[in-house]
Amino acid sequence: MSPFDLHAHSTISDGTLTPALLVARAVARGLDVLALTDHDDTAGVEEAQRAAAGTALRVLPGVEISVTWESRTVHIVGLNVDVENAALVAGLAGIRAGRDARARRIAESFARANIHGALEGAKRHVTSERLISRTHFARFLIERGHARSMQDAFKRYMRAGRPGHVEHAWAALGDAVSWIHAAGGQAVIAHPARYGLTATRMRRLLGEFRDLRGDAIEVFSPSHTLAEAEDSARCARVFGLLASTGSDFHDPDESPLDLGALPPLPLGLAPVWSRW
Ligand code: AMP
Ligand code: MN
Ligand code: MN
Ligand code: MN
Repeated sequence: MSPFDLHAHSTISDGTLTPALLVARAVARGLDVLALTDHDDTAGVEEAQRAAAGTALRVLPGVEISVTWESRTVHIVGLNVDVENAALVAGLAGIRAGRDARARRIAESFARANIHGALEGAKRHVTSERLISRTHFARFLIERGHARSMQDAFKRYMRAGRPGHVEHAWAALGDAVSWIHAAGGQAVIAHPARYGLTATRMRRLLGEFRDLRGDAIEVFSPSHTLAEAEDSARCARVFGLLASTGSDFHDPDESPLDLGALPPLPLGLAPVWSRW
């Protein structure tokens, strides 16, 4: 167990617990610090902080920003952000606005593969009118018997060459980092090993991120094997980045890691919280 969990989702994006229930779970599991990092929205932070008042838990205002970098989707977590910062608020609203049209295109792609009613089906799983994600489509696919699990849904669908895959342009990397910094936060590359980058591309991403004054990289994540976590730790040392850790929790049954179910960071790394 780690007393810090710096990556978690609520019903404000594609998690299934409300911010208050997520906080109750973090309190019950004895966490000291939980960052609420919903995709492209900070609307859950106030409820989460209210729920943590009077407990030993500190809730950090966070967000996970969807970015397109060299034609690939990369996620940048912002920690300790001022959720009222105008640049951040406008940037996130712009990203969310693109999600509705994308969802329609995803549904059209499913229809061409003879999977009908996907948009309506996904919308039944949506928990915030502000955001629809592929996770909601995945839950629809499982419900209809097109996939056995979340992992299976993403293995069979919604990736390059598969039904439900569409191209989409998210925010630019430099914009995401600058919104986070404008809001006084720290920018973290989420689950770096998940992007399937070659070593050369990974070095390019980390170099660009460092030149943009990006702050940290996630070392532990359910998307990482132990070897990948060690690799991320090495990248943190080589590029002089701080280290972060997070369960990427979405749901008690779906998620491979529960809140705080993370090993201690390897020695020799400066944790992102050393700057708080
Ligand atoms: P979106 O931002 O709409 O593209 O949805 C991305 C979300 O899908 C991620 O945040 C995860 O919650 C989920 N996801 C993507 N790939 C996988 C996977 N292989 N297994 C489980 N969940 C996944
Ligand atoms: Mn998600
Ligand atoms: Mn992510
Ligand atoms: Mn996440």
